[in-house]
Amino acid sequence: MSHDHVIALHGGAGVNPERDYAKVETHLSELVDRCEQMLAGGETALDTVEFAVAEMEDSGLYVAGRGSAPNDQGVVECDAAIMDGARLRAGGICAAVDVAQPIRAAREVLENTPYVLLAGDGANAFARERGLEMVSDPVSHFVLPVGVEAEELLKLDDGLAHGTVGAVALDRNGQLASATSTGGLLGKRAGRVGDTPITGIGNWADEEVAVSCTGIGEAFIYAGGARDLASRMAYAGQSLEDAGASLLAEVARHRGDGGLIAVHRTGEVIMPFNSAGMKRAVAGSRITRAVAIL
Ligand code: ASP
Repeated sequence: MSHDHVIALHGGAGVNPERDYAKVETHLSELVDRCEQMLAGGETALDTVEFAVAEMEDSGLYVAGRGSAPNDQGVVECDAAIMDGARLRAGGICAAVDVAQPIRAAREVLENTPYVLLAGDGANAFARERGLEMVSDPVSHFVLPVGVEAEELLKLDDGLAHGTVGAVALDRNGQLASATSTGGLLGKRAGRVGDTPITGIGNWADEEVAVSCTGIGEAFIYAGGARDLASRMAYAGQSLEDAGASLLAEVARHRGDGGLIAVHRTGEVIMPFNSAGMKRAVAGSRITRAVAIL
């Protein structure tokens, strides 16, 4: 039996309401269409979310991959994670400095190691060993001089400029997957790692639900993160919508803000946020494509 398919994307909860996001909207709109066609053609949820996040990492439009914010040493440290809900297997890398597409390295960790997360030099060496594209001059590759998201975000009052990209999908076989990638917080202390690469916090997928989070990583960690949403549904019988709202309320209680995208095995999707906005897009076999920022 063929299931409904759904793709949802986010380009981060770090949004400046005064900025023009026309390019981002066009990019999200084209990308969500492409992903929807991939799923319609029988691609797996896992391959589709990896593709979506790698495209966003390469675009230079978000704080992930190209466009990432440097830390207090002027170095870009990237974090990413991916999870296959059907196999309940995940992979991630964190504080990686010269991996061009961090989500590809996360997928390699999932497929080719018994581990969930590789950090720093070990993550860089692993990506090189797996033959992934490496960057010879990370600062000029990742930090974009014009139109840098993080530069714009510096104008915000909260003092924490940040951004992330993520994708969740349900494929025609009824399987779920999630992928999330970030350059983290602008000016973060070298070595700081947030929620994004930590399976169960910034990223989670099982047989019931796939979730990708964005926002102040420390608050998501305190709040329990993406798996807390899944647990609220499993143990407390909450609806997808209530579970998403409860997680964000908990994030707020820990003085953070942000948002998430989640898709349930029934095809239901939520994209809540308690920040000024969240770049987001959704499409599916029974969902008309929608793109929004604020
Ligand atoms: N969650 C990311 C982090 O804390 C940042 C973001 O989503 O904007 O590293």
